[in-house]
Amino acid sequence: MLSFCSNDYLGLATHLNIKKAFIDTANAEGVGSGAAHLLSGHSRTHQQLEEALVEFTGQRRVLLFSSGYQANLGVIDGLMSRGDKVIQDKLNHASLLDGGRLSEATQVRYPHADMSALERRLVQTDSRCLVVSDGVFSMDGDIVPLPELLALSKKHHAGVLIDDAHGLGVLGAKGKGCLEHWQIESDSLPIVMGTFGKAFGTAGAFVAADEVVIETLIQQSRTFVYTTAQPAAIAAATLASLELVETEHWRREKLQALIQQFRLGAKELGLTLMDSMTAIQPLVLADVEQAVRVGKALEGKGFLVGVIRPPTVPEGAARLRVTLSAAHTEQDVSQLLDALEAVLCIAQ
Ligand SMILES: *Cc1c(COP(=O)(O)O)cnc(C)c1O
Repeated sequence: MLSFCSNDYLGLATHLNIKKAFIDTANAEGVGSGAAHLLSGHSRTHQQLEEALVEFTGQRRVLLFSSGYQANLGVIDGLMSRGDKVIQDKLNHASLLDGGRLSEATQVRYPHADMSALERRLVQTDSRCLVVSDGVFSMDGDIVPLPELLALSKKHHAGVLIDDAHGLGVLGAKGKGCLEHWQIESDSLPIVMGTFGKAFGTAGAFVAADEVVIETLIQQSRTFVYTTAQPAAIAAATLASLELVETEHWRREKLQALIQQFRLGAKELGLTLMDSMTAIQPLVLADVEQAVRVGKALEGKGFLVGVIRPPTVPEGAARLRVTLSAAHTEQDVSQLLDALEAVLCIAQ
C-alpha cells in the first residue's frame, strides 16, 4: 500500500541517523527511563534536548512531555483553574478541549478562526483568560491567523497557547512552525506546544514558554509530574531529528512542490480542495457513506487515505484526509491523482 495518511511530513521516521541515535542510546542506557522526570527519569539526553529546543524555538525554557496529548492536558490544567476562562477555536484538537475540561476553568469556544467572535468573548470577561488555538488545524490544514489573535489577546490581557503539532518542522524556511510562518517577533511569543510524533518522526512533545510558565508547569502539571519520563533513546532520536529538521531544507521544499502538484492536479480533476497550503489536503465529500466507499475503493487500488467522519469533523463534512510527505515522489502523487479520478467517477 502507498500511504497518504501518515503525519511523517518530512519522511524522517525511517531516517538512518535517527534510528542509529535511538539504538545507540538504548544500548548504552537501556530502554525504560525508570521514573518520572522529577525523580531519576530525567537523563542527560533529555536535558540536551530541552536545551536544543530552547535554541530552536527562541523561548526561555522548554519542558518535555511524554506525548502531545499529555502536554496539552498538562499545560492547560497546570495554568488554569476554576474561575478562570479558557477560550478555544471550535476546531481545536481534542486534547486541548480535554485540557480545558480537566482544569475546571469555564470553557468558551468561538467559530473557527473568527477573530471578531474571539474579541467578543474577550470583552465579555474579566476573569483570567487563556486563548488556545491549533497552529495548523489538523483536519482542515489551514493556519491560525496568529498576528490578529496575538494582538487581540494582548489588548485584553489574555495569555495565548498555540498547539503547533502540524506546523513544527514544516512551516517557515527553517521549519520553526507557524510563528516563523507569520514572522512573530521574539518579544511577543505565545506559549507553544509542539509534538515529535509528526514532522520529527519520533514520539513525545514539549512546551516552550518563559521561566514563570515552565516553573509553574513543573510544580502543577499533573501529566508531567505523575508519569514516567520518555525513554532517553527517544530523546536521543529526537535530537538527531532536530538536526535534520534544521539543516535539510530540501525536505520542506520537496514537500511544498508535492503539495502544489497535488493541488493543481486535483483542480484539473474538478475536485474541491480546502484552503490549505500545508501537508494536510482534505477532500470534503460531505456524505459519510460516499467517503467510506471512496476510501475503500482507493484501498482496493493500493492507496491508504484517511477517511474522517463525524464526530471528528462536523456533520456533513466527512472527508478524505490526504497527507503528503517529503518521502513521496512526484510519481506517487500522480498515481494517487489517477486513482482518485478513477474512483470518484465510480462513486458519483
Ligand atoms: C497529534 C496531535 C496532538 C497529540 O500529540 P501526540 O504526541 O500524538 O499525543 C495534539 N495536538 C494536535 C493538533 C495533534 O495533531
